[in-house]
Amino acid sequence: MNRPVLEALNLHRTYGDTEVLKGVDLSLDRGEVKALLGPSGSGKSTILRLIALLEPADEGEILLNGKQVGVTTNTNGTTRPLREAQLAKQRRDIGMVFQRFNLFAHLDVLHNVTLALTEVAGMSKKEAAETAAVMLERVGMGHRLKHYPSELSGGQQQRVAIARALVLNPTVMLFDEPTSALDPELVGEVLAVMEKLADEGMTMVVVTHETRFARRVADEVALFDHGRIIESGEPSAFFDDPQHPRTRQFLSHLH
Ligand code: ADP
Ligand code: MG
Repeated sequence: MNRPVLEALNLHRTYGDTEVLKGVDLSLDRGEVKALLGPSGSGKSTILRLIALLEPADEGEILLNGKQVGVTTNTNGTTRPLREAQLAKQRRDIGMVFQRFNLFAHLDVLHNVTLALTEVAGMSKKEAAETAAVMLERVGMGHRLKHYPSELSGGQQQRVAIARALVLNPTVMLFDEPTSALDPELVGEVLAVMEKLADEGMTMVVVTHETRFARRVADEVALFDHGRIIESGEPSAFFDDPQHPRTRQFLSHLH
């Protein structure tokens, strides 16, 4: 039986008295690419942060390869959040790329990518440098190993951030509007790297407003609104024949 690689079941999250996620389900098979669309404030970043184990859900479950993550089961069958050290281990299976390329400003490109390998995976410096260089080559940044983030364009920085997220060999990659902060002429080079990753079989959740990318690369597109998935489907059905009035309204405002 082929279990989904990633399953989010009935995720709820409340901040103060605002329920930001109202029971969201998400399921991805190996190699599947899911694009999440939706207005600002609808909960897209929140669901990614929960899946990345950066904060706990109030209710619901996250399973990676069929195993519930982020919690441990008490002897009486109830669950509680994992301790930080164990959470950190599980986070290695999930790569995340944010809107703002949050590279370490005081480290060069190579060092930004080797850090996790030496500090988290316990690799030797030499092996880490070789592994990181291969990954940076894959995102087209092999010629900038000694540059500092401030010496790179936003698109280059974002490609380094992708290499850094990939280097621990994650099971799934999460992208939170990875091109939204870029000058228009730099968007394409980042989307091209993501498309290559998808072609190579990476399992990916991509929050994006790039509908052309979603149409071409995603296996499924979903619309978030007010903490719920309103509609989801194959790109052609979703974009060309949306069923929900809210989807039609949202799409009409994009162009
Ligand atoms: P999106 O990514 O779709 O724009 P978010 O998931 O960032 O939406 O946010 C959804 C809602 O939750 C917003 O109203 C936002 O203000 C609120 N929110 C997000 N994170 C927090 C937080 N840490 N504390 C309080 N409110 C938050
Ligand atoms: Mg967001």
